[in-house]
Amino acid sequence: MKRRDFVAGVTGAVVGGAATYGVLKSKKPAEKKSAMPAPAVNKGLKEWRLVTTWPKNFPGLGTGANLLGELITKGSDGRLTVKVFGAKEVVPAFESLDAVANGTVQMGHGAPYYWKGKQAAAQFLASVPFGMTAQEVNAWYQWGNGQKLADEVYAKMGCKFFPSGNTGVQAGGWFNKEMNSLDDYKGLKMRIPGLGGEVVKAAGGNVINLPGGEIPPALQSGALDATEWVGPYNDLAFGLYKSAKYYYFPGWHEPATVLDNFINMKAWESLPSDLQAVVQTANAAVNQIVLSEFVARNNAALSTLVNKHNVQLRGFPDEVLKGLGGLAKQVMNDIVSKDPLSRKVMDDYVKFRADAAEWSSRSEGAYLPARQKAL
Ligand code: CA
Repeated sequence: MKRRDFVAGVTGAVVGGAATYGVLKSKKPAEKKSAMPAPAVNKGLKEWRLVTTWPKNFPGLGTGANLLGELITKGSDGRLTVKVFGAKEVVPAFESLDAVANGTVQMGHGAPYYWKGKQAAAQFLASVPFGMTAQEVNAWYQWGNGQKLADEVYAKMGCKFFPSGNTGVQAGGWFNKEMNSLDDYKGLKMRIPGLGGEVVKAAGGNVINLPGGEIPPALQSGALDATEWVGPYNDLAFGLYKSAKYYYFPGWHEPATVLDNFINMKAWESLPSDLQAVVQTANAAVNQIVLSEFVARNNAALSTLVNKHNVQLRGFPDEVLKGLGGLAKQVMNDIVSKDPLSRKVMDDYVKFRADAAEWSSRSEGAYLPARQKAL
């Protein structure tokens, strides 16, 4: 389906909901209505601002936030208009959540691990090293306890939460040397966020946290030896191949990174239930559409990186992955031992992962090698 058709479809469906809401709520006889248009405030029109951690219009991530704003605006027939801003247009990327929580703006779009300094548990909501795939984690959010737990974490930060996009399995990152053993992480200056960053730190790396827009110059200047960002589609857009030669797979640290839409709690609670449904539905749509975009575009970008820019692809050796896996367990156990909410989220996540992994090994896990053999 073309995006335009999709938007039209959603708009039609949600406008129907809004009309129903109007009928149910309106007690006034039609003849008493003024012929003059009511002032915007009386009609309950709202104009919200959405800040993002992404460079403006950045492929997949920034455009995902744009689509969210568009779907809410059109889906509400303009009763709730959302204007989207890139990083630094209103506030710097990593101040987005503060700006939403304190009511400077009403909405934000980023990734939960950016807020780990406020709530350590947020890291487990973004992506867990050797954690669930996109399909599995969406099942956790939609059919397990994921949404409920995330709401609990975000309520502590003054926000309502929705999953709002997913990158799928990311790439392992860009390195200026080959990574042959765990020792190669020692002293490595690497940009890597969230729990993955904690694991690299435990391996002896020097982890530097930067918003996306600041990565390319840092890698070019040598302030970073290595970085991860997202995957071929986004990494090509940033030109990371210009500054690092080796591109590693897989993204063990981010097997399915959940993007977040965080909404000022009072602003969220001020919405009538039909507009809340519009926001929820728009996020569910964006969550899937962003993931599909990465699936659709990553391989073409990877071909360009290899064939046009001569990027060297590498897989992490088994020994490195095993070592990182052991460190991941230690790091996560350490975090949850200090924070009961992190423990609550991780315990539920790990339990869901065990079930999901068992089924995945019988389904996708069995099917993918079978397809390779058959084709
Ligand atoms: Ca990443």
